[in-house]
Amino acid sequence: MSDGKIVVVGAGNAGLCAALAAREQGASVTILECAPEEERGGNSRFTAGAIRVAYEGVNELKKLMPDLSAEEIANTDFGAYTEDQFFEDMVRVTEYRSNPDLVDLLIKRSMPTLLWMRERGVRFVPIYGRQAFKVDGRFKFWGGLTIESWGGGPGLIDALFAAAKASQIDVLYDARALRLISDDNGVVGVKVRHESKVFDIEADAIVLASGGFEANAEWRTRYLGPGWDLAKVRGSRFNTGDGIKMALDIGAMPYGNWSGCHAVGWDRNAPEFGDLAVGDGFQKHSYPFGIMLNANGERFVDEGADFRNYTYAKYGREILKQPGQFAWQIYDSQVEHLLRDEYRIREVTKVTSETLEGLLEKLDGVDPVRARETISEYNAAVSTAVPFNPNVKDGKRAEGLRITKSNWANRIERGPFSAFAVTCGITFTFGGLRVDAEARVLDKGQVPIPGLYAAGELVGGLFYFNYPGGTGLMSGAVFGRIAGISSGKSVIDS
Ligand SMILES: Cc1cc2nc3c(=O)[nH]c(=O)nc-3n(C[C@H](O)[C@H](O)[C@H](O)COP(=O)(O)OP(=O)(O)OC[C@H]3O[C@@H](n4cnc5c(N)ncnc54)[C@H](O)[C@@H]3O)c2cc1C
Repeated sequence: MSDGKIVVVGAGNAGLCAALAAREQGASVTILECAPEEERGGNSRFTAGAIRVAYEGVNELKKLMPDLSAEEIANTDFGAYTEDQFFEDMVRVTEYRSNPDLVDLLIKRSMPTLLWMRERGVRFVPIYGRQAFKVDGRFKFWGGLTIESWGGGPGLIDALFAAAKASQIDVLYDARALRLISDDNGVVGVKVRHESKVFDIEADAIVLASGGFEANAEWRTRYLGPGWDLAKVRGSRFNTGDGIKMALDIGAMPYGNWSGCHAVGWDRNAPEFGDLAVGDGFQKHSYPFGIMLNANGERFVDEGADFRNYTYAKYGREILKQPGQFAWQIYDSQVEHLLRDEYRIREVTKVTSETLEGLLEKLDGVDPVRARETISEYNAAVSTAVPFNPNVKDGKRAEGLRITKSNWANRIERGPFSAFAVTCGITFTFGGLRVDAEARVLDKGQVPIPGLYAAGELVGGLFYFNYPGGTGLMSGAVFGRIAGISSGKSVIDS
């Protein structure tokens, strides 16, 4: 076994995949994690574990989930999500800005990477409930998102830590990487603060996997713009842009959509940062089946523009732009059964009423008169000719309004009625470092900085404006594994 030493900064999904892959090349690996052990796992742990992967059909899924029963297969239309469809989704939602080479890698390596993770103990299951509705006795998956890690984000993280332990990978908690140490040969180590002591660690290569800058209010305001200091952080309080800054400080090239981020509708009264006990339960993602009203009692987005997987990540920004940075989602009893589990948690900001008038009086901060008018106009505009179907973009529209609702438009007319208050919850930032196909960090001349690799949220160039749900974990896993293989090979070969 080689003496080559790799330090990975950050113990989320990307960092753990990088560490495992580097170790498999024969390197000795240490992970620095600035969180205490009980808060380990980064944003990855806060997720529900949904992962977007290309597959040709149920036979390919069976390789990933050999436990799928004959009954499940008979009762489910898994369809296919081809590499072409994944590519089309990525470029469409990012308005053709995404780097095609990075997207190609992400997609082509998606299934092989999940199979590799499975061999290391991560288990996957179909996302029944959230990504498939039962119609005529059969589940049908929609939105290109079919599987999740068993046990959600916590299950994923536990499995990866178990694999890291079995591979003799050291993890140092309460260890914040402060800056990279470099000389004419590139990166040779990292300065770290571990439990109040500051010291240097030598390394033959460093993999940065320390997330974006979503938990840094000052950077959010600086790069995303005014108002972003007011967003709530959905996940880890530790992703403050350290890895990005350390790399920029030694000449790395900034890349990607620095003014863009993933942000969703998130409970108005959620805490400042994520709460591991609630996970992603503060999100409120069933808005395609209702409407959203701002303080003026007006709608402000097309709630049914697309499957929620393709709109939720950009609607947080729209909510942030509203007066008071909040909105209320309104539903009637006809769609109540379609509301996702997160609508039934204890920590929910919800009001209900048997009558619409009664409900509108309870909407804190909303003009009730204008809200009533908006709902009346909306109800009158709903097409009754088209049947409602939550599994497809049903084309049941509300038209002739200032803002159309393009699908799933039902009248809001049958009590009891319910409403949920949301604000903007930021998930992660899109801008970051520029990497090549081997996950090597490039400098401003677009030349690899020797000894420096990056993976996960801090890689720029993949996401612009928007994001197809489930791609964050996939990107962390794919580029984490690539960074691990490349860095591992480099220290063995040198
Ligand atoms: C509530 C929520 C739900 C989500 N749901 C999904 C989903 O279902 N599917 C999906 O694909 N994506 C989802 N995402 C996005 C997804 O979590 C991220 O895209 C992905 O997990 C990022 O992985 P990562 O390894 O890059 O970062 P992280 O998992 O955040 O790991 C980064 C780690 O670096 C550490 N760190 C930071 N700075 C330093 C430093 N200076 N020194 C040492 N360590 C440092 C942090 O403590 C953290 O542990 C969700 C995110 C949130 C917040």
